[in-house]
Amino acid sequence: MKKIGVLGSTGSIGRQTLEIVRNYKEDLEIVALAAGRSIDLLEEQIREFHPKVAVIWSEEDGRDLRQRVKDTDTRILTGMEGLLEMSTLPEMEMLVTAIVGMIGIRPTIAAIEAGKDIALANKETLVTAGHIIMPLIREKKVRLLPVDSEHSAIFQSLNGERHDTIEKILLTASGGPFRGKKKEDLKGMKAEDALKHPNWSMGRKITIDSATLCNKALEVMEVKWLFDVPLEQIQVLIHPQSIIHSAVQYHDGAVIAQLGVPDMKLPIQYALFYPDRRPMDGKRVDFFALQQLTFEQPDPETFLGFKLGLQAAKAGGSMPTVFNAANEEAVALFLDHKIEFLEIPERIARAMEQHTVIPDPTVDQILEAEKEAREIVR
Ligand code: NDP
Repeated sequence: MKKIGVLGSTGSIGRQTLEIVRNYKEDLEIVALAAGRSIDLLEEQIREFHPKVAVIWSEEDGRDLRQRVKDTDTRILTGMEGLLEMSTLPEMEMLVTAIVGMIGIRPTIAAIEAGKDIALANKETLVTAGHIIMPLIREKKVRLLPVDSEHSAIFQSLNGERHDTIEKILLTASGGPFRGKKKEDLKGMKAEDALKHPNWSMGRKITIDSATLCNKALEVMEVKWLFDVPLEQIQVLIHPQSIIHSAVQYHDGAVIAQLGVPDMKLPIQYALFYPDRRPMDGKRVDFFALQQLTFEQPDPETFLGFKLGLQAAKAGGSMPTVFNAANEEAVALFLDHKIEFLEIPERIARAMEQHTVIPDPTVDQILEAEKEAREIVR
């Protein structure tokens, strides 16, 4: 029985993680859950999975939830203290970081320090604190298993190969709902349009990040940290069919890729059972129906967020934090219909222009840079 905690159990990745646990009840046990505001769903999950602890963000919801589940043995915690306690629960072996945003940094670091393996979906953590997390992973000798489909594909394509034989990482991107559009076409785009992703069903924030291509810039940074490759060796390919989930090109010219239908359950399950590969029902790639796989260059002039993200990656230090925090804030404003689609990168650019890079920032400096960037965007 592997004992698992899920940070963000009520979200898209969190719910799919629990679906896998439901299919493998004999092998996987949930010991901790955490959610933001979905109190009804969290209550259902507590009744189904009987975790030792469950965290809900606000104190008020915590009081309500404690009352609702007083007939169970689950202890209800709240706030950042609650997240830190659930992330370091002694019986837990693996933490799935399926929370959205930079709020994942402190719980993830705490879990690694406590010797837990990490199944990482929360890319914002690695983007902003990769220089702290990666050495800590090595020091504590824990596993960091990518859940993001592209990174899982790269991880699978690297299986058994030597790191010094890597020539290039080929990071694929669907291109999102606005692929092929030009800046003029994007004027006046609403959240409803940007939320219509052609291939993947995901949480709202990452779906907007796919539409702006900011997600791909975040993923470039995630690749750099996870696989220890310089930015110049990472190439982004727009691949609208989302069948090749990413690939590695080696120094003899061989390209090894992982393919599959777009379904996040595969990379999640691979991380949960690694190094085992367990059976999973569902659709398979039908090459005859598919007929063709196509590729395009990304368009950084239309998708300015992508360009800014790559600039932030090059600048390094605290700049990826500013890019990420400004993006989180701008996306929240866009989802609230307070700003236009094209204002997302404009506001990120403003926050980046006003920032002086701090090399190797501490967690406190990261959180300070986050706060400043959010204020500028607001
Ligand atoms: P969702 O928005 O669907 O879910 C986010 C989860 O985080 C919810 O459970 C939410 O709780 C929880 N949460 C938010 N704030 C808090 C808080 N303060 N305390 C505790 N929990 C909180 O996001 P996704 O599942 O789409 O994405 C999660 C992460 O995974 C992101 O970093 C994303 O980039 C990454 N990712 C997602 C993919 C996908 O297919 N969805 C693919 C690859 C990576 P509640 O809903 O109760 O408020």
